[in-house]
Amino acid sequence: MSGFALAVLCLVCVVAVAFARPGGGQSYSGGSRSRSSSGGGSGSGGGDGGFLVELLVWLVFRHPGIGIPVVLVVVVFFVGRAMLGNKVQEWSTAATPQSVQRVQRVEAPSPPPQVMSTIPRSALDALRAVDPEFSVVLFEDFVYLLYAEIQRARSGAGRLASIAAFLSPQLAQNIQAEAAGAAALADVRGIVIGAMRLTGFSGSHSATVSVEIEFEVNYVEVNRQGGEQRFYVTDRMGLSRAQGAKSRPPARARTLDCPNCGAPLENLRGTQCAYCQQDVGGGRFDWNVGYLSTMTKERRGPLLTGDVQETGTNDPTLVDPQAVPRIHAIEQRDPAFNWDAFTGRAAHIFGALQGAWSGREAARIRPYVSDNLFQSMVYWIDLYLQAKCRNMNDNARILRIDLANVLSDTVYDAITVRIFAAGADYTISDDGKVLSGSRTRERTYSEYWTFIRGSQRQGPARTDAACPNCGAPLDISMVGNCQFCRAKVTAGEFDWVLSRIEQDESYSG
Ligand SMILES: [Zn+2]
Ligand SMILES: [Zn+2]
Repeated sequence: MSGFALAVLCLVCVVAVAFARPGGGQSYSGGSRSRSSSGGGSGSGGGDGGFLVELLVWLVFRHPGIGIPVVLVVVVFFVGRAMLGNKVQEWSTAATPQSVQRVQRVEAPSPPPQVMSTIPRSALDALRAVDPEFSVVLFEDFVYLLYAEIQRARSGAGRLASIAAFLSPQLAQNIQAEAAGAAALADVRGIVIGAMRLTGFSGSHSATVSVEIEFEVNYVEVNRQGGEQRFYVTDRMGLSRAQGAKSRPPARARTLDCPNCGAPLENLRGTQCAYCQQDVGGGRFDWNVGYLSTMTKERRGPLLTGDVQETGTNDPTLVDPQAVPRIHAIEQRDPAFNWDAFTGRAAHIFGALQGAWSGREAARIRPYVSDNLFQSMVYWIDLYLQAKCRNMNDNARILRIDLANVLSDTVYDAITVRIFAAGADYTISDDGKVLSGSRTRERTYSEYWTFIRGSQRQGPARTDAACPNCGAPLDISMVGNCQFCRAKVTAGEFDWVLSRIEQDESYSG
């Protein structure tokens, strides 16, 4: 790293005040955002909107002097929010303000879905009506994979020729033009996805099923001269596929290969597969990316410390109405499952996460988190190592765990809980100076954590450091295999693993 870059990093450490935590917390975006923190929204999300309406009605009739102005304020708030939803978000950065540019609008061949505010991801579960093997967890992993592949394809380092079957002709053309242009990149790497939100969904009934996903991403662009620039980006990606298309089998869900026959990617030329002799593009067999729109792109990495206010901690938990019946269904399938053991494992993983984070040892969390979450932990921990500081969370402890949602499909059970925790959060340099936060003043926060486990799996959740398959003391490789029995334990086949951490203001069900 150059001296200048190091100086900037140190400056960031010193200038900013407080607040990071394992996984990045709210500091991922490097500053506070004006995204609404209340849940509600569309779909079957919050169970608390009804209470609010009742309260307002009661106020209007019993205390009109208070009630009517309150109703007006609420209406203005929601209308304003709905109008803002379509526009580029406003960003305020805690460090040096950067320009927010709108770049590379690639129009979709088919119109993007109309609903632009965040939709609960559980809405996608409706696809199981036309595709019984559909799994939200696997879908998100696949989308993540596609997104990273497209980013790499923007540079000469990508495999654009082989992924055309997953792109609309228009998008493939645009990417090719960019990769061949005068300002072409040498590589795009260090792609870390901080958040993925569902911003559009056609439902399962239309002939072409379309989905829009919004990403918050950090990546590094490497130019031809070897220069590097890290960006913080908000992108929206539109995908579609024929209603009759079926999900990939689980074994192929985390690889890109022929959408029809599964032949390795090298067999694809354009949208033609040399192996099965089919035109496999256009969403006939698999998801096809119609557009990738960059909403914001800022030249900066995440702040290691930032004056980021905790928002949403006092909001009611967004509980899906199906959460309780679905958790009972898991209990029916697996008599060894119970809430106490499950939350015991959640607490065990919480502890391991704190240790890995403050100790800057990613390996300690490896057995308990999915591959994608692990990659983002490694990324954060590397940043702290480079900046020669670490984020501490003394006396970190869970105060409460609420059930928020349960999704079950043929591959995974996914349980989302809201974890309320407290601890003294501060960042300290390697030579012992407290750079931000407070060693004595505790802070309370809440986050939504999603755990996954193979839906065929039965048995009690482990709360010790042993391999969930063979019981040997945990010694897990960096790719997630037990060193004794070689089983891959981090995909949730054997026991609950943490696959996602979302902030209150990002979570929408
Ligand atoms: Zn094929
Ligand atoms: Zn093992």
